[in-house]
Amino acid sequence: MFLSIDFEDFSHDLKRELGVWDTGPLRVDALWRSYETIATFLQDHGGPSGCTATFFCTGVVAEKAPDLVAHIAKQGHEIACHYHYHDSMDRQSAATIEQMLAWAKDSLEQAANTSVRGFRAPKFRLNRNTPEHYKLIERYFDYDSSSFFGSADECQQFSNSMTLSELQLIPLFSGKYKGSGPQIRLGGTYLKLAPDTVARDLITQAKSTGVVPHVYLHPYEAVDHGKFWVPRNDLKKLGIGKATYWAARQNQWLRFGGARLIRKLARLIPPEGLSGRLDQLLLDK
Ligand SMILES: [Zn+2]
Repeated sequence: MFLSIDFEDFSHDLKRELGVWDTGPLRVDALWRSYETIATFLQDHGGPSGCTATFFCTGVVAEKAPDLVAHIAKQGHEIACHYHYHDSMDRQSAATIEQMLAWAKDSLEQAANTSVRGFRAPKFRLNRNTPEHYKLIERYFDYDSSSFFGSADECQQFSNSMTLSELQLIPLFSGKYKGSGPQIRLGGTYLKLAPDTVARDLITQAKSTGVVPHVYLHPYEAVDHGKFWVPRNDLKKLGIGKATYWAARQNQWLRFGGARLIRKLARLIPPEGLSGRLDQLLLDK
């Protein structure tokens, strides 16, 4: 089983999404704390080859906390790209996307002092109706891990339909518990809410359909929820009603993080430990 981390600053990104600012200071201390928690977890549960993982970092983290990205890379983890800002790409023009991809890759490579080969779209949002987005990603990266599939065959068919020749897709699995009910993903809010039996069933299903099991995590899920919380006062520009709504809405993402989710993840790791960096799955390696 692989573990990847969407390494982003929730508080910065929420303010950008809500129009409070274009960009501003990051909570660098909270990012360091969450990295240290994740690193300790990887040491304790990584198994012989699994004490490394892939960190999909936003470019803005590399720009504003370059020492942290350099440190993560030096520890042997893979630095991959999570776009420059945590924006929804499906609402942007091709020109903006290309500019953001190039900017993010450059910022990350400069900070990490290594080449960046993998990409994951913020919120997994890409336009899947035409090959346009995938072709842009293919120009800059060797693999994309932005999509959920129910089997390796489904992933291959999709890759063919996007006419991808160079870009390798490293899928995440989504499926239904025991074949019925809602579609569930292995990570994020789904992982937080689903009982262990559901997560285990999905891992088994992934394996049986040829998808390498893979769980994803965010920094705000590794530390106490207050660390990335945006208080109502910071949102007052939105007006009292919206500020109150968004201060409360953060519960969905920020609650049940910290020790509880980390403990849950530990219970799902197979006896042989985690599998390491995602770039190990690249066919040319
Ligand atoms: Zn993200």
